[in-house]
Amino acid sequence: MRTPLDVLQKTYGYEKFTGLQEEVTSRVMAGGNAVVFMPTGGGKSACYQIPSILRQGVGIVISPLIALMRDQVAALKQMGVRAECLNSSVKGQDAALIINSLQRSELDLLYVAPERLGQPGFIEMLARVNIALIAIDEAHCVAQWGHDFRPDYLRLNILAERFPNVPRMALTATADGPTRREILQRLSFTEDDIFATGFDRPNIRYTVVPKDGENIQLLNFIQTYHFQECGIVYRMSRKNVEKTAEWLCKKRIKALPYHAGLSPETREKNQARFMSEDGIVMVATIAFGMGIDKPDVRYVAHLDLPKSIEAYYQETGRAGRDGLPAEAWMSVGINDIGFLRRMILTGNAPEDRKALELRKFNALLAYCESANCLRQALLGYFGEELKEPCGNCFTCLTPPSKFDGTIAAQKALSNVYRTEQMYGVNHLVDVLTGKETPKILSQAHDKLSTFKIGTEYTRDEWISIHRQMVSQGLLDVDIEGYGGLKLNNASWEVLRKERTVALRKDPIIAKKISAKTKD
Ligand code: ADP
Ligand code: ZN
Repeated sequence: MRTPLDVLQKTYGYEKFTGLQEEVTSRVMAGGNAVVFMPTGGGKSACYQIPSILRQGVGIVISPLIALMRDQVAALKQMGVRAECLNSSVKGQDAALIINSLQRSELDLLYVAPERLGQPGFIEMLARVNIALIAIDEAHCVAQWGHDFRPDYLRLNILAERFPNVPRMALTATADGPTRREILQRLSFTEDDIFATGFDRPNIRYTVVPKDGENIQLLNFIQTYHFQECGIVYRMSRKNVEKTAEWLCKKRIKALPYHAGLSPETREKNQARFMSEDGIVMVATIAFGMGIDKPDVRYVAHLDLPKSIEAYYQETGRAGRDGLPAEAWMSVGINDIGFLRRMILTGNAPEDRKALELRKFNALLAYCESANCLRQALLGYFGEELKEPCGNCFTCLTPPSKFDGTIAAQKALSNVYRTEQMYGVNHLVDVLTGKETPKILSQAHDKLSTFKIGTEYTRDEWISIHRQMVSQGLLDVDIEGYGGLKLNNASWEVLRKERTVALRKDPIIAKKISAKTKD
C-alpha cells in the first residue's frame, strides 16, 4: 500500500510534508472530513490531491476559476496523475470524452466549476461513479458577506446532502472569524473538522507609505529593490492600470496590464507571459490573482487602497510563495480614502452590507496608521497574537516618531464608556470636541463629563487617535454588530493607569498630530 508520504516524495518530489498536510491527508484517508485554513502558498492543494490519488475512485474538486483549474490539471498531468477539468471552456466532444473516462473510473481527479452542479443530470451522473472525496477550493466564496462571494457556491451544500458517506473538504486562505463560521455553517462542517495553521508569512516585509506621486514612488521602489524581478502592482481603476503599465514601460520596466475590460485573448496572453517570463511586472485590478501560483513573485505593490484587511492579506499573499524574502508595499493617499468610502456608501448593496464594508474598510485604515509593528497589527486582526514586534516591517525598521498619548487615550476610552460602548468614531469625536449635534443633544451627551474634554486636538487628530487605538488593540470594533467601539481588557489597563500609550505623530492618513497635551 502506498502512503501519502510515498506520493508526496515520488509523485511530487518533495521530501516532507509542510503545514498540516500530514494531519489533513491522514484524516481524509481514514474517511473523515476536513476544513483547511492555511495561508496562500501553504500547500493546500496536496491536501486533497494526495487522498484523491490514493483513495478508490475520483476526487471531485470544486474550483471557481477556469485559469486556476487549467494550471492545476496541467501540473498534475505532468506528474503522471490522471486529472481533467469540466468548465465552460471545455465543450462538446472534449467534455464528452472527459465524462466518458469519469464513468469508466479512469480519473484520479476531476476539477469542476461550481455552476456545473446546477446543470440537469450532473449530480445524478456523479452519484453513479465512485467518488474518493469532494473538495471545495477557495471555500470563502460561499461567504455572502465576504469579499469574493459567488452565488454558485451556495448550491454546494447539496454535496453534503447527496453524498453523506464521501469525505468532504473545504479549503481557503481566509483567516477572519465570521467568514470561517459561515463556511462551517453553509457547507455543513463542524468545529471538529477544522485544521488551521498560523497565518504569519514571515518572509513578507510589510510597508505602508503616504502616497506622494505614486508612479514615481513605485518606480523608485522597483529600481532600488526589485530591479528585473517579478511583481504584481494593484490599482483600483482600469484606467490607472493602463496608465501605470504604460508609464513603467516608458521607463524600461517590462510591465503588462490586466483588467476585466481587456479582451479574453489579451488577458490570457498577458497572464501566460507573467507566468513564464522573467522579471515581468503585472499591473492589474483585483480581477487578476486568485489562484495565481507563481512562486517567485518578489513583491505585491498596492498603489491604491484595497477594500479590507482580508483582501489585503489575500492579495499580498501572492508574494514570496517560494519562502524567499518578498515585499508587500502600499502607498496610501488621503484622497483615496474619501473616494473609497463614497464608493461603498453609494453602491447598490443593502444598507447592512454597506455598513459592514465600511467597518472593514476602517479596520484597514487602522492597520495603515499603526504606530507599532504592522505584522502584529495584521495578525492581530485575524485573532493571532505575535508576542514580539517582527523586526521586519516598515514600522519596525523605521519607527515613526511618537508622542505619549496616554492621556488622550484615557479621555477617548472614558468617553466610550460614558456613551455606553455603542457609538462609532464620528459621534465619539463629536462628544470629545464638544459639538452640539442633534444626536448629542437628543442623547443628552452634552451633559456627560467627557463632553468637550478634547479640545486640544482637532477632529481629524481625534479620528486618527481612535484608529491608532483600534490598531493597537486598545479598543475593539463591534464588526459583527453595529460597528460601535467597545472596551476590552487592554482598555481597562489604560483607564486604570496600568499602561501607557504611544501614538504616532505623523499618521499616514490624517494630518500631523500636534502633540500638545492638556491635562
Ligand atoms: P495553496 O493552495 O495553499 O496556496 P499550493 O498548494 O499551491 O498552496 O502550494 C504552494 C507551493 O508549495 C506550490 O508550489 C507547491 O508545489 C509547494 N508545496 C506544496 N507542498 C509542499 C511540500 N510538502 N514541500 C515543498 N513544497 C510544497
Ligand atoms: Zn514589525
